Amino acid sequence: MLIRKMYNQHRAPGRRGRSGSYLLEAFSLISASPPGEGIYSSVKGGTVRKDSRGSVIKEIYSLLLAEYGCQGWWPVTPPGGTVPEYSGGPVSERQRFEVCCGAVLTQNTSWKNASSAITNMIREGLLDPENIISVDLRRLARIIRPSGYYNVKAVKLQRIARFLAEKGDLTRKSILEVNGIGPETADSILLYAFGQLYFVIDSYTRRIFSRAGVIKGNEGYDSIRKLFEESIPRDITVYREYHSLIVEHAKRNCFKNNPSCPRCPLGRICLSRIESHPEGEL
Ligand code: SF4
Repeated sequence: MLIRKMYNQHRAPGRRGRSGSYLLEAFSLISASPPGEGIYSSVKGGTVRKDSRGSVIKEIYSLLLAEYGCQGWWPVTPPGGTVPEYSGGPVSERQRFEVCCGAVLTQNTSWKNASSAITNMIREGLLDPENIISVDLRRLARIIRPSGYYNVKAVKLQRIARFLAEKGDLTRKSILEVNGIGPETADSILLYAFGQLYFVIDSYTRRIFSRAGVIKGNEGYDSIRKLFEESIPRDITVYREYHSLIVEHAKRNCFKNNPSCPRCPLGRICLSRIESHPEGEL
């Protein structure tokens, strides 16, 4: 009943256009229990979490999804278009390649800047591995200038294009061997372009989940990735939605400085918020 209510709520016009089955899949993790109830207890000298980290991770997914709705990542450009849209991810080879390029272009910059670079690439006929491999590097750098660090990113785009053109099997190990492709970019490509079940960890994940009391924040990338992968269903829609919801939450509430805790959907279960407020003030 709760799932159906939230499903209907998030089908409202204006919400990024998702199919009914997609929405129902994404909502499949929502628990029927009241959000946040009983997760922490106050003890002498501090606060302790009663539930397992996995339970809190599931609870946070439910709360973020209920608050922000489906995000429809990764944005890709529809046939004939020039601007990436949030339509549920790639369905063609060209769009898969676009996701790979986007994962490189969005390194150390906003998606808006990366999106402008993709629009330029489309206009120049460069959203194609063979064309990227053969284009002059300085020209490619000029075209992707809006993304910042364009000289370095142009080299990375050629490397990833070569990798995709030459490699038969796409594994995490092989993509991590591409110079300049770190685990976050590799997992973004694997998850959003090729539908492989790797959870993407970024600085927003570390920020939100360390504040929530789930992780310390300085653990190794793979340690946090495995924690998430062991906590949530092995479902491609959930993996994709959860990471994009984390990004949305960091941008809309859990800022690096001065987070908007009073209006935060995680306020009742966030350790940082609980510890900074006397009992009963939340
Ligand atoms: S309550 Fe504050 S610190 Fe905690 S997740 Fe929300 S915005 Fe971030």
